[in-house]
Amino acid sequence: MLLLRNGLLFDGSGSQGVRGSVLLDGERILEVGAVVDRSDYRVLDCEGLAIAPGFIDLHSHLDLQVLEGGRIEKIRQGVTSEVVGNCGFSPFPFIDDAHGLQEFAAGILAPGDRWNEGWGWRSASEYLRAAEERSSKMNVFSLVGHGSLRVAVAGQSQVPLSSGEMDRISGLLEDALGAGCAGFSTGLMYAPGSSAGSDELEHLCRIVARSGKLYATHMRSYAGGLVAAVREQLALARATGCRLQISHLQAAGRANWGLQQQALDEIEAARAEGIDVEFDIYPYQCGSTVLTQWLPAWALEGGRAAMLSRLRDRDRRRKIAIEMDETSAQLWSDITISGVETARNAVLVGKTIAEMAEARGVEPAEAALELLIEEEGAVNVISFNQSPENLRQLLSHSLCSVISDGFHVKGKAHPRLYGTFPELLGEVTRDWGWLKLPEAIHKITGKPAARLGLRNRGFVRPNYFADVTVFDPAKIQSHSSYETPDREPQGIVIVIKDGRIVYGQGA
Ligand SMILES: [Zn+2]
Repeated sequence: MLLLRNGLLFDGSGSQGVRGSVLLDGERILEVGAVVDRSDYRVLDCEGLAIAPGFIDLHSHLDLQVLEGGRIEKIRQGVTSEVVGNCGFSPFPFIDDAHGLQEFAAGILAPGDRWNEGWGWRSASEYLRAAEERSSKMNVFSLVGHGSLRVAVAGQSQVPLSSGEMDRISGLLEDALGAGCAGFSTGLMYAPGSSAGSDELEHLCRIVARSGKLYATHMRSYAGGLVAAVREQLALARATGCRLQISHLQAAGRANWGLQQQALDEIEAARAEGIDVEFDIYPYQCGSTVLTQWLPAWALEGGRAAMLSRLRDRDRRRKIAIEMDETSAQLWSDITISGVETARNAVLVGKTIAEMAEARGVEPAEAALELLIEEEGAVNVISFNQSPENLRQLLSHSLCSVISDGFHVKGKAHPRLYGTFPELLGEVTRDWGWLKLPEAIHKITGKPAARLGLRNRGFVRPNYFADVTVFDPAKIQSHSSYETPDREPQGIVIVIKDGRIVYGQGA
């Protein structure tokens, strides 16, 4: 028996902290509140510390890294559960060989030597079994990605699915949900998932609705098309009855900041009519993704080799550059290179596309395309997206869960990978006062647990699994920056998963 004695207890529901103790018996919580101390208990004195449910990251891209049992970048932030398989990318399923899946998902899931990694699972059950066996310090929940499913049945082609392909993709989705996936995700800004029309999505969301599981979407647009994109997703939820989670909601790009209020109005109106919709965001003004997301869809048709041959053709490259200049929501000076494959270009990490272009004496869009050729398509970026006012409005909204959206790159990852949870509780909540502490904790515990439909995690309550994070509310702080992201946060004292100390004294 392990007694966490006399802390400030936050149960995960959003209610005020109360002074109390928590008694853990094996992997479960036995008692909460005024626990009578006994000499045979192992005691951790929590005087002056907060006792909270283990944090749940509802949106992670560490699908492969969670399988490396020794990784600590999330555990040391207090995270005990991660949801992977987001934005249409899951490392399963594949049919004949994993090559197409790897090519599709490597930019987000597998940094470094990314085209040659021997990863990929034939089915959700194989992946989930690997996660169960290899990820002892983290609870792993996985969505199945629409992009991965589509690559499995139709490769990189961007045409509507035939009826035979529709049958096969439906079967694969049913298999994955039946095997224990927590839901389904789409990534409608990433080819080839972006080519799905509303018929395809509606058909698949009906299957998800029947399972009662979550549908999480990286929508078609977060820029000028934000409001239309929100409406499309709300219409899907309305038509099919699926439970909708809008991933990393924001209005990206200075010119679009005014659209956020309209998007929120649409979501609130849908809630009022009974649609089960919520959203999430990370606590940073910058986002991060792959540079190919700035290319028009036609330039990506057929996959990486086809894209590279278009980029090597001078006239077509010019046409692509012009379209990029017309459609980008960000200025080229707002897009910073964060990851490349070659040693030669490693010096560009931390430079903006505009700076790189100036040094090379070419136009920025041309420079971006040159870089993609040199890196054979493998470039990650961090883009300045949001205003502080908008970010505050999102984070403090009652429908918002707080997520990391973190992923690794070969270069410098976005600091959200290493700092999201301490950043939320320290800077955002304590220092800026954007949220109250119980509310901030709720957004990373009870709320994401409810979205996942978990009945035994996300709260500190008797009989729940003993996932507990003890932290010092006065000291908690992220030390991750854009320049030096991989730094240990301060103020996380003990992290317990299933009754076992996985971080802190006694781990
Ligand atoms: Zn996404």
